[in-house]
Amino acid sequence: MPAQDCIFCKIVAGEIKGERLFDDDQVIAIRDINPQAPVHILVISREHIESLIRLPSEKAPILGHMSAVGNELARHEGLWPKGYRLVINAGPDGGQSVPHLHLHLLGGRPMRWPPG
Ligand code: 5GP
Ligand code: ZN
Repeated sequence: MPAQDCIFCKIVAGEIKGERLFDDDQVIAIRDINPQAPVHILVISREHIESLIRLPSEKAPILGHMSAVGNELARHEGLWPKGYRLVINAGPDGGQSVPHLHLHLLGGRPMRWPPG
């Protein structure tokens, strides 16, 4: 999918307005439009990378940054010490529906394992 047709690129570019819980030169964070838990936040890369598998190894440090932002938001949302989950879905079997790299922060209820 070309970046100009990508919903998350439009959100990153500010073409679609909405509250940003975090914003820096690498990522933004917003609440998921269809929350799967009481807290469901998306940490979205500013760069259009279609999926985890498309992340070149030299850009892998962004995953550490996305995790750090997810952890900070989890703290801010009061999810610790009860716990939370950080998830990246990749590809159809992974449950990915938006082809732009993003991390889910889920919390506020007990998570099941294995995930569905
Ligand atoms: P995926 O299924 O790709 O791992 O996650 C995509 C997530 O983006 C889904 O949880 C979906 O609810 C969310 N989403 C899709 N479109 C929008 C949107 O326009 N705004 C927001 N805030 N979330 C969206
Ligand atoms: Zn995109």
